[in-house]
Amino acid sequence: MKKQHRTETDAIRTQIPRTDFMEHSAPMYLSSSFVFEDAEDMRASFAEEKDRTIYSRYSNPNTSEWIQKVCQMEGAEAGFAFASGMAAVFSTFAALLDSGDHVVASRSVFGSTHTLLTQIFPKWNIGHSYFRHDRLEEIEGLIQPNTRILYAESPTNPAVDVLDLEALGQIARKHGLLLVIDNCFATPYLQQPIRFGADLVIHSGTKLMDGQGRVLAGITVGPAGLIDRIYRFARITGPALSPFNAWLLSKSMETLAVRVDRHCENALKVAEFLSAHPRVNWVKYPFLKSHPQFALAKKQMKAGGCVVAFEVEGGVDGGRTFFDHIRLLSLSANLGDTRSIVTHPASTTHSKLSPAERAESGITDGMVRISVGLEHPEDICADLGQALDSIGG
Ligand SMILES: *Cc1c(COP(=O)(O)O)cnc(C)c1O
Repeated sequence: MKKQHRTETDAIRTQIPRTDFMEHSAPMYLSSSFVFEDAEDMRASFAEEKDRTIYSRYSNPNTSEWIQKVCQMEGAEAGFAFASGMAAVFSTFAALLDSGDHVVASRSVFGSTHTLLTQIFPKWNIGHSYFRHDRLEEIEGLIQPNTRILYAESPTNPAVDVLDLEALGQIARKHGLLLVIDNCFATPYLQQPIRFGADLVIHSGTKLMDGQGRVLAGITVGPAGLIDRIYRFARITGPALSPFNAWLLSKSMETLAVRVDRHCENALKVAEFLSAHPRVNWVKYPFLKSHPQFALAKKQMKAGGCVVAFEVEGGVDGGRTFFDHIRLLSLSANLGDTRSIVTHPASTTHSKLSPAERAESGITDGMVRISVGLEHPEDICADLGQALDSIGG
C-alpha cells in the first residue's frame, strides 16, 4: 500500500466510503450477512469475480476499516483481523505450515504462543527450535531443511528485551524463511517491522490499540499473496473479529498516537523512579540508558512502549509483600490499558514455563511487569513507592 501520510494521519483518515447519510464518523455494521441484487450478482460474488461483502466471517466493513488502518501504518499490502491476538498467531502458523514443517522461534515469546508451539502444534507434527533473544548467532545452527518460519517478538513480553529486526530479516532472506514478528508491545505507531525486513506482522489489538481494556482482537498484515492464504484458512475455520469490536478498535486508533506518547512518557518516568528505589534490584525499559539494547531500541522504535520490568528485593516473598500493598494500581494480567497494571509473570502469564525456561527468558521469581497507564505519573510512582517500602530491609 502506498504511503501518503504519516502514521498519525493514517490512523485517523483511513475510512470506509460514506453512506448516503454522509456520516462523519464510520457507522457500525452489525450485520452477519449481506444481500445480492440478483442471481448473477450472487454467482459472481461467490465466484470472487467481484470484491464485495458476503458474510461477516469473510469480511465486514468495520473490520475492513481497521485492517486498512493497520496496513497503512505498518506499510503492508493486506491483512486479516481476528477475534484475539492468539487467533492471529495460531491462524498465521496454521495457514502457512504443513505437517512436517518446522519453526525457529525466539524463546522469549508470549506464554500462550509458547504453549502453542510446545503442546498444540506437535499434534500436527509441526516442530520448533528456540533461540535465545540475545544470541541471534544460534539461529543458523537451528535451521533445518523443513524450516519455514522465523518468529520473534520485540520488545518481548514480559522482560522487554529488544531483538535486532534487521539482523533477523537478513537471516530469514538468506535461508528463504518467512520472518514473522509479533509487534504487539510496540504498536504500528512506535515500530514498523516490515521496514526492517519482516514478511508478516502480528498484533494483539487487545493491548495498546484498543488501549481501554474493552475488546479482544488480533491482526496479521503483510504481502497480499500470504494474506490470501491466511484469509482462505480463516474464512473456513471462523476466527473472524466481531464488527462491534472492529468499530471500537477503529475509533481507538484515532487516539493511538496521543495515548501511546503519554504511555511512553509516563513509563520512562516510572522506570527512572524505580531505578532510584533501594528495594529494587534492577529495572528494564527499552528507552532507559541502562537497557542492554538501548541503542538498538532507539534505532527501531520511536519510543519505549508502556511496559517496564523490574525485580523487587527478597524474591518470591518480596514480590508477595509488594503485590499485597498495591492500592491504586490494578493486579491483573492485561497490559496496554489506560489503568496501570502490575503483574507477576512467574505465577501468572508465564507459569506454564519450567523454572529453567523462565530463566532463559529473563523471568525471575521477584520480577514484576508493570504496564504503565495514563494516570498522573506521580500517583503511579507514589503507589509503587509505598508498596516497595513495605518490603522492609
Ligand atoms: C497479549 C499478547 C498476545 C495475545 O493476544 P490476545 O489478544 O490476548 O489473544 C500475543 N502476543 C503478545 C506479545 C501479547 O502481549
